Amino acid sequence: MVSQDKTAQVNFESLLRIFTVPEGPESTLTQIEESLSGNLNQFLKEHIVAEEKPLREIEKDFRQSILPETPTFVSDHTQHLLDTLVSHSVHTSSPSFIGHMTSALPYYLMPLSKIMIALNQNLVKIETSKAFTPLERQVLGMLHNLIYAQDDAFYSRWMHSAQHSLGAFCSGGTIANITALWVARNNAFPADGEFRGIEQQGIFKALKHYDYEGVAIVVSERGHYSLKKAADVLGIGRESLVPVKTDDHNKVCLTDLEAKLNELEENKIKTIAVVGIAGTTETGNIDPLAEIAAICQKHQCHFHVDAAWGGATLMSNKHRDLLAGIELADSVTIDAHKQLYIPMGAGMVLFKDPHSMASIEHHAAYILRKGSKDLGSHALEGSRSGMAMLLYSSMHIISRPGYELLINASLDKARYFADLISQQSDFELVTEPELCLLTYRYIPPHVKAALHKATGKKKHKLNELINGLTQFIQKHQRENGLSFVSRTTLTPKKWDKMTTIVFRVVLANPLTTKEILHNILNEQREIAKAAPSLTKQINTVVDAIESGL
Ligand SMILES: *Cc1c(COP(=O)(O)O)cnc(C)c1O
Repeated sequence: MVSQDKTAQVNFESLLRIFTVPEGPESTLTQIEESLSGNLNQFLKEHIVAEEKPLREIEKDFRQSILPETPTFVSDHTQHLLDTLVSHSVHTSSPSFIGHMTSALPYYLMPLSKIMIALNQNLVKIETSKAFTPLERQVLGMLHNLIYAQDDAFYSRWMHSAQHSLGAFCSGGTIANITALWVARNNAFPADGEFRGIEQQGIFKALKHYDYEGVAIVVSERGHYSLKKAADVLGIGRESLVPVKTDDHNKVCLTDLEAKLNELEENKIKTIAVVGIAGTTETGNIDPLAEIAAICQKHQCHFHVDAAWGGATLMSNKHRDLLAGIELADSVTIDAHKQLYIPMGAGMVLFKDPHSMASIEHHAAYILRKGSKDLGSHALEGSRSGMAMLLYSSMHIISRPGYELLINASLDKARYFADLISQQSDFELVTEPELCLLTYRYIPPHVKAALHKATGKKKHKLNELINGLTQFIQKHQRENGLSFVSRTTLTPKKWDKMTTIVFRVVLANPLTTKEILHNILNEQREIAKAAPSLTKQINTVVDAIESGL
């Protein structure tokens, strides 16, 4: 439907045509695809984060609240999308976009995604997915093997078993974490005598039957916010998420963990799971997983590892030891849309024991019949796309050693950038990279010296002003559109646990070069010069500190 006279009309005939794929080199589809991919390629080539236009301005294009009453030609609408949406989206695949866990994708995923959408399989049941179901089970099996390394007999017995499940494919780490904790909760309160299980009778009767006063999930204070959502959804409340202290390296403090578990037991509160983190969102650190596993064993509670971001490190034989102990976890979350380079909407939860998920099994009359291999019977989500196909393809096309090269390169690059920052007299590395994530800030040498020397109110005042400068630099760098780093707030021990705003960098894009990293520091220096009033305030406080006033 290329527009001839600009008056499209609603009629059933033309509606029927949009459900038939137009063919041939002259077809609208081909023309639109060419124009779109031309624009997209141009957009992806330009090394900018996004065309800068304030969100308030962009919102003007999205103000209409009345549904369109007249139809639009596909080609016209595509142009509209290019103008209003594509040109103002964020260039997450840019090699200088190093602020978040979302980065570049391998090119072949674009045509493969088209196949996925064209086939429109629904993985909730075999009847709408057929071969996609064993494919997804195999993908889960491969990831299970990567974590737990069971023998061939294990996988041939359980991978395709109707009554069992090695895990679930889902839309992301949040759903994966909720699923793991749902399973842990249900297994903590199973049917017993008259009690028909928490899944049937709910939390109140479960507590009464088992004589508990409450329920807890225990995780370090660096736990991802999705765990709070999980506690809320599971009906135990956000306050039931018990935070454990962390050490100077943002890792869970084991003595505090033990103390918390003992205290909960004394108060008759059932801990349904302890969550270890393999790659914290803010600093990329990994909890001592083997030690946590031993504590969980002692306290007889479910051990979940949130490896949403860091789990991909298992692909690297060189670095997988960083996650040692993960194989002792009862369940593990891994996001494929982070360091496995799959588009958004690809998360997984894996269970060590193929029987674990029985506690959330659901059946329905018209689908998910008992004994069927329908994936929907062991999943939180219902209808789901064939996303597992993209991971299946990448695992074949890239292969395990290919992923290892990518992971190793990211870790090397983070190490390089950390060293580069440390060599600059006017920058400070705040957290060292354990994986490919690090934090730092801009702080000229005389300011750093003054901050060391200062005490009390002046120290806090100066730190606050430096925070203001960090914020200023980050914001302007984003607005300049040449590069992007994110920012977060930490409380480093080195600076007496003062609230410290830092730049946060995730080096996952294989195309990010050393030159780009050098440029990013130079750009930040230049931006700092463009903050004369902040600089003046900082220098006034520095002078006061130096003169001992
Ligand atoms: C990203 C992340 C999550 C959440 O995953 P989504 O895919 O965004 O839902 C959970 N935990 C950790 C540690 C993460 O890095």
